[in-house]
Amino acid sequence: MSEIKEQWSTAQMQHYWTPDGREIVTMPSWREYQKRDAKGNQHGGIRDANLDKGWLLAPPQKPMVGCPHCDKWHETKKEVVECGVAKAKLTRKWDKWAKRNNKQTDTGDLEAQIRELQALVGRLVNGHVLQHKTDDTETDTRDKET
Ligand SMILES: [Zn+2]
Repeated sequence: MSEIKEQWSTAQMQHYWTPDGREIVTMPSWREYQKRDAKGNQHGGIRDANLDKGWLLAPPQKPMVGCPHCDKWHETKKEVVECGVAKAKLTRKWDKWAKRNNKQTDTGDLEAQIRELQALVGRLVNGHVLQHKTDDTETDTRDKET
């Protein structure tokens, strides 16, 4: 029984090569797909999602350079360096943006705002809308007038 299972699973295995020449032996990742062409005719079929990652079914003729920055491959080492520079720039931009956003949505501020809102709702329910505590006297006189 286990022998049959083994034969079956090895038959399913597929050899792939990454563009930088690494060999990978794994199961194909079959996906059904449907596509409509310009005339509106539907085409469907099964494709191997592993090939979407850029893997090849044969060793690459001209191996590319693996890139640690984008997990893809580039034609030259120079492109890998450029990719790293571009990524670092983007990361800095993102950090700046995140820092700015963090300041605005600081949880301490948020909690204070919620407390303020709760207090306001409480006053609304009681029929006393006070802008600030210092407005107490002003509102009191208005209350008396009505
Ligand atoms: Zn890259």
